[in-house]
Amino acid sequence: MGKKIVVAGAGHGGLIAAYYLAAAGYDVTVYEKKAEGTLGYDQYDSVHLDGFELAGIPVPEEYRVKRTPLSFILPGLELSPITQGVSEDSYNVEIDRRALCTILLGLAKEAGARIEYNTKVRGPVMLGSRVAGVETDRGVVYADLVIDAAGLYSPVRSQLPDYLLIDKEAGEGNVLSAYRGYFDRIEGIEAPELRYQVYLLPGSDCGLMWVITHEDHADVLIGKFRPLEEAEIEQGLKTLRELNPHLGNNLLRGGKVMKIPVRQPMGMLVADGYAAVGDSAFMTIPIKGSGIGYSMRAGKLLADCVQADKNGCYTRDTLWKYQCDFFDNIGFDAGTLAIIKSALPKVSREDIEYLIRENILSPELLQKFGNEEGMAKIISSMGFGGLRDMTKKIVGHQNLRKLILSSGKAVAKYAIVRQGLKAKYEPKTAEKWTRSYNKFYDSLNSGAEDADEKPEEKQDEEA
Ligand SMILES: Cc1cc2nc3c(=O)[nH]c(=O)nc-3n(C[C@H](O)[C@H](O)[C@H](O)COP(=O)(O)OP(=O)(O)OC[C@H]3O[C@@H](n4cnc5c(N)ncnc54)[C@H](O)[C@@H]3O)c2cc1C
Repeated sequence: MGKKIVVAGAGHGGLIAAYYLAAAGYDVTVYEKKAEGTLGYDQYDSVHLDGFELAGIPVPEEYRVKRTPLSFILPGLELSPITQGVSEDSYNVEIDRRALCTILLGLAKEAGARIEYNTKVRGPVMLGSRVAGVETDRGVVYADLVIDAAGLYSPVRSQLPDYLLIDKEAGEGNVLSAYRGYFDRIEGIEAPELRYQVYLLPGSDCGLMWVITHEDHADVLIGKFRPLEEAEIEQGLKTLRELNPHLGNNLLRGGKVMKIPVRQPMGMLVADGYAAVGDSAFMTIPIKGSGIGYSMRAGKLLADCVQADKNGCYTRDTLWKYQCDFFDNIGFDAGTLAIIKSALPKVSREDIEYLIRENILSPELLQKFGNEEGMAKIISSMGFGGLRDMTKKIVGHQNLRKLILSSGKAVAKYAIVRQGLKAKYEPKTAEKWTRSYNKFYDSLNSGAEDADEKPEEKQDEEA
């Protein structure tokens, strides 16, 4: 039998890693707290096709659909909604979450992984500084490697010793509370022309709501970058019904509030005997919370890295390749979007009105965000002329000018931080990089970035 690998929680990335590693002959067991047949949420999800393709997972034809453009609306604004551009050959995967879980569990199981349902992981088992297994409600399980795929509130990640530099929590303001419910449609009332309506809630109320209209039901989401009160959900539903007379009162599916990490990916993904993947490492697109695609791709990168460790050591040193591959392929792009996300609470209603009116928030720009491109790619694709025109318009607006200047400065500092991640593992450099990355976001989120602080990496170099 191959080396023993424990996957804590049947998250998407963990199942992809389990599939590849079991197929390669490793002894893989997934411990999942829920019962068989109950995994996932009672909802449909939209996943970028890349997530499947780069993870090497075939997409069943029935789930592959042409992308539908989202229309962004500022409630109460007289301007027309702004509709995202979508190219003709652009496809998404639209899939019932429970069906997706069943497919991924099936792949892992067929490849030889064991799935232990109804088993709650309580925390890590440490042997010195190495993660040597997990404690479950059925006893202790030792392993050569623990893959943490237990999601946002992973009990493994949150109980690791501080000196491993792995974040315990997502941090304040970094979790989107999302209510999702599927409602009936009121008979005799026509559906709106725009089927995918996203309502922006800028300022202190920062968040979004959507109504996606289907043949026989409407999919509703109410999300805020802080805990949602019951009264806010009621108020949100009331507002959405006023704006959408076809939206019925009868809840058909869902109706729960769930949490999504919306921040930069964790700065340190690995330790001796441990690797985090998916929501447990905060691997979502920070401005919208989609995480399935990133999680699946990261699961494949992790499986490749584990297989490359021919001696089966699974130390931070041999798992460092996963850390670097993740950041090079996904993490740094997500990180630039986290800079935009940190500016969102400072964007007022009036600012958004200006952005729409001046065509800065244009269908093309929204298309690029929809393509899940990082900010560097988005900026370089605008070309000199496009950037110059946008800058001219923004310079004429006081709050936006301030915001863009501070975001621009943050992006420049981020580029310096980014360079500090070296492919060759060396403990001191790796720790220094993680501290510098974490410090960068801490100061960004606390507003200290505006106060012209330099990232640690740069300060050290100068010293
Ligand atoms: C309302 C909503 C809508 C979303 N829409 C989209 C979308 O359209 N597209 C998209 O890409 N993403 C979407 N997301 C985000 C997406 O759900 C996550 O990013 C994605 O699931 C990746 O997380 P994961 O697989 O790592 O973890 P999870 O999906 O959280 O899975 C973790 C697994 O671990 C198990 N577990 C947890 N704790 C324990 C424990 N102690 N012991 C054993 N097992 C445990 C859980 O039961 C679960 O099975 C949405 C999220 C929400 C809440």
